[in-house]
Formats: sequence, C-alpha cells, structure tokens
Amino acid sequence: MNTNSWLNPNLENRNSDTQGWGIFAKADIRKDERLAIFGGKIMLIDEMYQIPENMQRYTMQLEERFVLGPASTIPEDTDFFNHSCDPNSGFRGQVFLVAMRDIRAGEEITFDYGMTVSVSVQSDMIFEMDCACGSHCCRKTITEQDWMLPELQVRYKGYFSQYIQDKIEKLNENSFGGAD
Ligand SMILES: [Zn+2]
Repeated sequence: MNTNSWLNPNLENRNSDTQGWGIFAKADIRKDERLAIFGGKIMLIDEMYQIPENMQRYTMQLEERFVLGPASTIPEDTDFFNHSCDPNSGFRGQVFLVAMRDIRAGEEITFDYGMTVSVSVQSDMIFEMDCACGSHCCRKTITEQDWMLPELQVRYKGYFSQYIQDKIEKLNENSFGGAD
C-alpha cells in the first residue's frame, strides 16, 4: 500500500532470492518511463535522529540540509528500491524516478544511492554503506563523495538528483574557467 508516494502499477514490491525485498518489473518498461514519485515528510537532516531507528534508512537526501523522510512508522512500497552500482533507473528532478534504459519484465529496479547522497551541511551525518551488489563495477563502499567520480558523472548524466546535477555543472564550469 502506498499512501504518500506513487509507484508505477507495472512494478511490484516482492521478496527475491538474491536481494531480499526489492522492486521488480511486472511488464516491460521503456527508457525514461516514470517509475515512482517519492513523497513523505521534509526534514532537516539531523531530524532523522528523532524518527524510529528502523525507519531512518527510509530517508532520501534532497539537498545539503534536507531529506525526504517517512511520514508514518510503516514503510511504503517505494522505500524498497535497492541500490546497485550498475542501476537501471535514475532521477528526474529530486523525487521522480525514471528508467535509464529499457527494462524487461522480471528485472529488479535499482538506482545508485550515489545519485542522491552528498555531504550534509549543518549536520554531522555521514553517509557510508557497504555494497555487495555483484555488478562488474561494484564500488564496495558507497559514500557521499561518489557523485564526484568522473566515470559516474558521465554514466549518470541527467539522472542524478537535480541538486547534485547542479553541483556537478557548477564544478565543471569552475574547472573550465567559465563559459566566457
Ligand atoms: Zn555495488
């Protein structure tokens, strides 16, 4: 049941042998098709400490100071997208998830958590996660600095959360000495 978020009806939350709970395609999905719209409660990053510990993982960074957190104490289907270092979905804006390529029925839908996390401001929160996604390009450790990796900036161009895409463009402008 989704109350605050929207999940494409061609997707389902189910248990898998390899990844545990995850979101899977029930039908073929085309590149750039909308997969989910994340809703919830806007929080300052440090306000995460005030929600129950088992719910803290269901937050998504929206900007250096803000996260989208759960609006209730029960996870929603859209909380179950797993991370992959070789994902098939990415962001449009900050809360829309779209397919980065054509996806076949039965495939798990994943995004790279590096698309949404960056260093937090006015908070001591540090994001770091071990990864065993099994892809050929697995980074083993996912950190809030990963958006700065040049190969990810190329691979996910246009699919980072918008606030990170903006940071990348700003960084590149500076390194090339501006457009003029
Ligand atoms: Zn990985």
